Amino acid sequence: MGRPAQAGIEQERMSDFGKCDRCNQALIEIDHYGERLVGCIECNRWSWRGSQRLLLELPDDDIDALKERVRRAQRTG
Ligand SMILES: [Zn+2]
Repeated sequence: MGRPAQAGIEQERMSDFGKCDRCNQALIEIDHYGERLVGCIECNRWSWRGSQRLLLELPDDDIDALKERVRRAQRTG
């Protein structure tokens, strides 16, 4: 609580989205060029908030950048 939010990642809410049915990682919410997406960073499967299915794949470059951001967020958290 009281921590500044990481840009693009709302870590406080990471656990609200359930877990990936493939790898059991917690789903996270990201800001992808202004779109709010929820999904699994390990499997690279994403969907819009409120949608039950993970439909989207993001480009490898985007995933790499996201993983880096998540890693940094976890380290400082
Ligand atoms: Zn997964």
